[in-house]
Amino acid sequence: MAHNGIELTKEDITTLAVEGIVNAANNSLLGGGGVDGAIHRAAGPELLAECQKLGGCPTGEARITKGYKLPATWVIHTVGPVWHGGTQGEPELLAHCYRNCFYLVREYSIMSIAFPAISTGVYGYPKDEAARIAVREARRYLAENENPAAILFVCFNDATRLAYQHALTTS
Ligand code: ADP
Repeated sequence: MAHNGIELTKEDITTLAVEGIVNAANNSLLGGGGVDGAIHRAAGPELLAECQKLGGCPTGEARITKGYKLPATWVIHTVGPVWHGGTQGEPELLAHCYRNCFYLVREYSIMSIAFPAISTGVYGYPKDEAARIAVREARRYLAENENPAAILFVCFNDATRLAYQHALTTS
């Protein structure tokens, strides 16, 4: 489904032939469960070796590495907030994740970028609210750039797809 520069897909992010994929990493950047584990498994041990040199990443920030065995050239690792009820700056931190990813997309002239639903797995962020922030920040990036990257949101399960469809059609 296309929405002016934004598309939804349910494919495994590690299989996508896009220029960059975003990893929902943790502060160590040394791999974990969920999408992070899948990306490290698919990229191979060289990704971990490069991540080890980065010395971690604060919540809300982003770091870029090569994609190694992935079809994607680049991996942008960002650390979403853990959901603590919404009163501990979670919406601002999640927005910062998307903005910092888009900053790197621009810096590296990446022309297609795929995002997982950051923070909505193990980190427990409510899917609808997270999707609204993702869509808002994507639209902001699209509006502010003359030649923006194509944006793909990976909806790995039906609840995530519904949340993005809702965000795209109601906001
Ligand atoms: P977080 O710790 O930021 O919550 P998770 O990896 O637990 O990260 O979940 C983030 C989202 O990524 C969830 O919607 C989950 O279903 C999804 N996900 C898990 N594996 C993959 C994958 N291989 N490709 C795309 N999305 C995935």
